[in-house]
Amino acid sequence: MVNGRLELTVLGCSGSYGAPAGGACSSYLVRAGGTTIWLDCGNGSFANLQQHANVADLDAVVITHAHPDHCVDLYGLHVLYRYGLGRDCLPVFTPEGVEKQLASLVDNWGDTFDWHTVGDGDATTIGEAQLRFSRTDHPPPTVAVEVAHANHRLVYTSDTGPEWSPEVFGPGVDLLLSEATYQHDDIRTPIHLSARQAGEKARAAKAKELMITHLWPSIDPIASVEEASEAFGRLVMLAAPHLVTHV
Ligand SMILES: [Zn+2]
Repeated sequence: MVNGRLELTVLGCSGSYGAPAGGACSSYLVRAGGTTIWLDCGNGSFANLQQHANVADLDAVVITHAHPDHCVDLYGLHVLYRYGLGRDCLPVFTPEGVEKQLASLVDNWGDTFDWHTVGDGDATTIGEAQLRFSRTDHPPPTVAVEVAHANHRLVYTSDTGPEWSPEVFGPGVDLLLSEATYQHDDIRTPIHLSARQAGEKARAAKAKELMITHLWPSIDPIASVEEASEAFGRLVMLAAPHLVTHV
């Protein structure tokens, strides 16, 4: 961890379903000073989390929406906390619908988690991190998340269609982590972005850096990087499992 900065570790970035060869779904580890946040818990990501963090040290979990590719591995943390570590009351911040969705996986949450519902315009502080939330253009209640620490800002779009913009968080975010599920000539549903749209939105928001993520697993990621980079105006980064970057 570089002092005074945000650290982002990609734990999973496959769009909508797990890719071959270790392609876990959406999940990130965010460190802000001494604060550790598990941001989204897509399928396959809990195994990767344990390679990058001591799970007993988590300060909170943030889940952006109830689709399984963003939330289902919270089940694993529950099992380890409740029956392994004996830990309870870990704060979990989610929009409405996530707790109910996950309840079908668990007989009894017990006191493992301290659930907090968040929605559009909400803000909270977790240790040394300040978080803000914005409702995106995606069917279940879904929030994009800004994490700020020591004058550095990271914005994660979660999943969104084109009717939402990261501009809501104000210009000049240091790193925009944006979904880019499709390529522009093959947008299969309007509840996600193409790489071109991700680049255009990052440019409109005056983001300093753009990392694209949540690519549909069967598409060519290099073509997506080229498409997003052309729209953004300079080279974008491509999320990959275990990639660590500083904001
Ligand atoms: Zn998704």
